[in-house]
Amino acid sequence: MKKKIWIILLTLGLQGFGQERAFTEQDTLRGSITPQRAWWDLNFYHLKVQVDPDEKFISGSNTVRYTVLTEAQELQIDLQPPLVIDKVIQDGKTLNFRSNGNAHFIDLIKPQQIGEINEVTVHYSGHPREAKNAPWDGGFSWKRDGAGKPFIATSCQGLGASVWWPNKDHMYDEVDSMAISVTVPKGLMDVSNGKLRKMEDHGEIRTYHWYVSNPINNYGANLNIGDYQHFGETYHGEKGDLPLDYYVLKEHLEQAKIQFKQTRKMMEAFEHWFGPYPFYEDGFKLVEVPYLGMEHQSSVTYGNGFKNGYLGRDLSGTGWGLTFDFILIHESAHEWFANNITYRDIADMWIHESFTSYAEGLYLDYHYGKNAAAEYTIGTRANINNDRPIIGPYDVNRSGSGDMYYKGANMLHTLRQLLEDDEKWRSILRGLNEEFYHRTVSTQQIENYISKRSKIDLTAFFNQYLRTAPIPMLQYEVDGKQVRFRYTDIVDDFDMPVKIKVNQNWHWIYPMADWKTKVFDKEVGSIEIDKNFYIASQKLVRNH
Ligand SMILES: [Zn+2]
Repeated sequence: MKKKIWIILLTLGLQGFGQERAFTEQDTLRGSITPQRAWWDLNFYHLKVQVDPDEKFISGSNTVRYTVLTEAQELQIDLQPPLVIDKVIQDGKTLNFRSNGNAHFIDLIKPQQIGEINEVTVHYSGHPREAKNAPWDGGFSWKRDGAGKPFIATSCQGLGASVWWPNKDHMYDEVDSMAISVTVPKGLMDVSNGKLRKMEDHGEIRTYHWYVSNPINNYGANLNIGDYQHFGETYHGEKGDLPLDYYVLKEHLEQAKIQFKQTRKMMEAFEHWFGPYPFYEDGFKLVEVPYLGMEHQSSVTYGNGFKNGYLGRDLSGTGWGLTFDFILIHESAHEWFANNITYRDIADMWIHESFTSYAEGLYLDYHYGKNAAAEYTIGTRANINNDRPIIGPYDVNRSGSGDMYYKGANMLHTLRQLLEDDEKWRSILRGLNEEFYHRTVSTQQIENYISKRSKIDLTAFFNQYLRTAPIPMLQYEVDGKQVRFRYTDIVDDFDMPVKIKVNQNWHWIYPMADWKTKVFDKEVGSIEIDKNFYIASQKLVRNH
């Protein structure tokens, strides 16, 4: 049952952006660094949106500030129908644009000179796409709370932020900072990313001005509207005092005050393993939403019912999954792997999900010890399909297999065994968050960094786990004092050592594609492969 539910969720997750279908021109316009994107570097967005809950209608503008890198006159902005661009303005002049599906190409009048900082403001409006199954198949969720008041949220990973606001909708170029001004009917509150700077009233409406002072990826920006209650506390962390703020519906206030005590435990565990929370200046928030949850930067959204587990279930089947709130822990871990270190192309989404799924185990490691973590991570193997590679096709906005979650976590768990040095492993995880602080990265950068720091050439290791579907099969046979062994189902040059227990003692063996033999000093009675290594094994029995 557990497994079945998880598979359904993963399948739904793939509908939005991982589904197998032929690639179109729209995929390329969305998923590649087109010439109309490449010539300018994003500096700042000021997104203004007015939300009309009764009409399910939005209108507003986004001012895009950018630096000219090379001379060009045509600038691409993405916005998905049914939303429409009403007008585009630069320096007070209205500009022409042509549209190709979700991509809009603006003709700039003013010559764009290298090094210049310019602004263009895109006005838009319409009835945004409604989320069919948030957050996987996202858009706007228009719900009501228990008292019948509007309860509204956005989610858009994969689908793209252009489903609800106009922007440069490719992950490679993160904006350096962002202002978000959301206008709602009085009696409702908007909670977006970063810090609330001020509120302004105009008759029956109120505008909430939020400000994010750090780089933020497109899908990380969000608005959440409801009749929220706020409570908060201060966490004394590695970089000083960090405000923890919580926004929940009135009807859940008491439950939230108990459940969100885990936030401090989360922060303690992840600062230990990954280094300081990456957005002290913006604070940390948990915001209740009418869907399961999402890693929105500095305003992590939460809809797990104030219960431990994944909607009350343990994804590992070991019991450990019920000792923590899956959404609180998982989505918050994304602040390090997704929001701090961000993929440039969604094909490399493992950088977000493998480390974050692995982080669930590290949370347990910190609070309950190494064995708890190992049991949990090994338990999550029941969710792995080995159906297709974890890395997806590049430049078409398509992610790879859902195995990026738990196969990826088990790959990292295996890597820790190879290092045999937990402090070194922790320094690599922290090092990643320092080296790629507030940056967008490719898988190659992450792979090279780990190889360099571990002093192990992990090229074949990553090729095996990220770029092919099957896992290594260790075949072995016992003959007196001898054990013969080899790998099958492996990529070229794969030669990962493995630990085996022979007659109650652990030994390293060094299998490759060709048969090798290890001779022990006594008759081999019992033999066991270390479960911490994510491989398959098969004992062959010889016919004498
Ligand atoms: Zn995730």
